[in-house]
Amino acid sequence: MLLLVMIVTGFRGHTDDYPKDFFRSPLDIPLVMAGNFAEMRANHFHSGLDLKTKNREGLPVYAAADGWVSRVKVSPYGYGNVLYVSHPNGYTTVYAHLQGFSQEISDYVRTKQYASNQFEIDKYLSKGAFPITKGDVIAASGNSGGSFGPHLHFEIRSSKSQMPLNPLLFGLQITDTVAPKIFRIKIYPQDSDGYVEVYRSGSKTPVLATREMPIVVDAVTNDPAGKNYQLSNVDKLLAHGRVGFGIQVHDYHNGSRNRLGAYTILLESDEAMLFQSELAKFTFGQTRYINAHVDYGEYREHKRWIQRSHRLPGNALDIYAGANNGFLLVEPGSSHELQYVIADAAGNRSTLSFQLLGVQDPVVAPRIRADPSYRVIREESKTIAGDKMRVHFRSNTFYEDIDFVYSVSDPRPDSYSPVYALHNSSTPLHRSMTLSIQADGLPEQLRPKALMATVSDDGKLSSAGGSYRDGFVVAKPRSFGNYTIAVDTVAPALESWRFPKDGQFSKGETIQFKVNDEFSGIRSYAGFVDSKWVLFEYDAKKNLLSHHIDGVLESGLRKLVLRVEDGKGNVTTVARSVTISD
Ligand SMILES: [Zn+2]
Repeated sequence: MLLLVMIVTGFRGHTDDYPKDFFRSPLDIPLVMAGNFAEMRANHFHSGLDLKTKNREGLPVYAAADGWVSRVKVSPYGYGNVLYVSHPNGYTTVYAHLQGFSQEISDYVRTKQYASNQFEIDKYLSKGAFPITKGDVIAASGNSGGSFGPHLHFEIRSSKSQMPLNPLLFGLQITDTVAPKIFRIKIYPQDSDGYVEVYRSGSKTPVLATREMPIVVDAVTNDPAGKNYQLSNVDKLLAHGRVGFGIQVHDYHNGSRNRLGAYTILLESDEAMLFQSELAKFTFGQTRYINAHVDYGEYREHKRWIQRSHRLPGNALDIYAGANNGFLLVEPGSSHELQYVIADAAGNRSTLSFQLLGVQDPVVAPRIRADPSYRVIREESKTIAGDKMRVHFRSNTFYEDIDFVYSVSDPRPDSYSPVYALHNSSTPLHRSMTLSIQADGLPEQLRPKALMATVSDDGKLSSAGGSYRDGFVVAKPRSFGNYTIAVDTVAPALESWRFPKDGQFSKGETIQFKVNDEFSGIRSYAGFVDSKWVLFEYDAKKNLLSHHIDGVLESGLRKLVLRVEDGKGNVTTVARSVTISD
């Protein structure tokens, strides 16, 4: 009995557990990926497959298996129009960025929108509402929400946990004979005495890497199949103490030039596993740990995704195997054969091999001690009170301890406090901080309009949210950078778009308005005809509000009013007369 239990436990989550012939393709064209599962994105792993739709919208989207519609959501952001179909075997498929839904779902959505006087809806449905048969056309593919080009975002989740799973483990037919490509590695000396020295071919001067400055080495392959890589231009790699590794890899597949993520990254030292990551699944609660999985600074500074083959202390991702969190202790006189093996979900593999030689500890200059009162211990919360500024970090905001630093510079002409440069934008925050800047330079009448602004490298202000409270402007940003107090007193810009001069519209046409808010952003929008709410669909990326004339507006001369409010309560209202004809 005990043995049986162990076997069952041991196999949980194993890729072979997933049914291989249960789901059909959600499209009836050959599947080509613009993005794949767990691909690296800003602050998250991609949770599904981005399937190409021939650069256009309106392709039929098919139910991947029998089941029922369990959720339907409409939003100007994120997944846009999205449908969730639950299946009797415990999986849910998700179809996002849709142009529209099948007629009966579309009618249901419309009814709910008019019942709530809201474009945005999010409805969970019981089993009996919309039963689905495998192969039913449930939607049309589109480009809605936060999508930048027509495609279908397709997910397979566990219904119970809503954990997204790698759809490529379910036997979908996608041609892939292309091995992942390896671009470079990065070596991270640890502790105060860890270091790495690289001798380039033909050069007697080594490049020295320390804890503060890990070293990047490019990889190349001379193998005609493009699968076996070496470090480029390296004669000798010397190291001392504990070191960690990271690697930049991307996968590709037949018929697509898009950069995809690799499935497994295995690092071996002397033929034993040092560390492995496997991207079969993750939870939405864990997805932000991508900032610990990758070298966040490399992404911020060079847009490079270097995935760590070692675990930072605060990284709670559940995708790793290996000993000593992936760190290798390099003793003087030792020699280590290291090999990376990178695989995609189809089993195509690439390798990179290199040798590391252990040397004596060099004489390293003692580090300058940082101000201990600004030290943030990872597991502890901490408030740092500075010059007319206060910042509070909750416990586990960081993946490792940090020595916080900040500097102050003069207010800008358009800001109401000094500019605070907080720490280093290459250090990731897992949780938001509470930042309070004293507002003694803010006129009283502007308090309701105040917000926290970030200053970009090119000097542009953008909103980081927040508001005035008890003498401070308080906000909860989730990244380091430059912050100052600013105000938004400007109402959103709102104007009719491609409006006929005579205001004549026919049924089937679309009435459109361009809407834009420079600073705090659009908080709410509503359209009324003769004082009655009518549906205006909001496309945030195109700054468009659209009403499709579909019978709700009766023929004749109508008074149309649009009202848009920004995040600081500034309102713009536009009234237009329109004549609707059949
Ligand atoms: Zn996607």
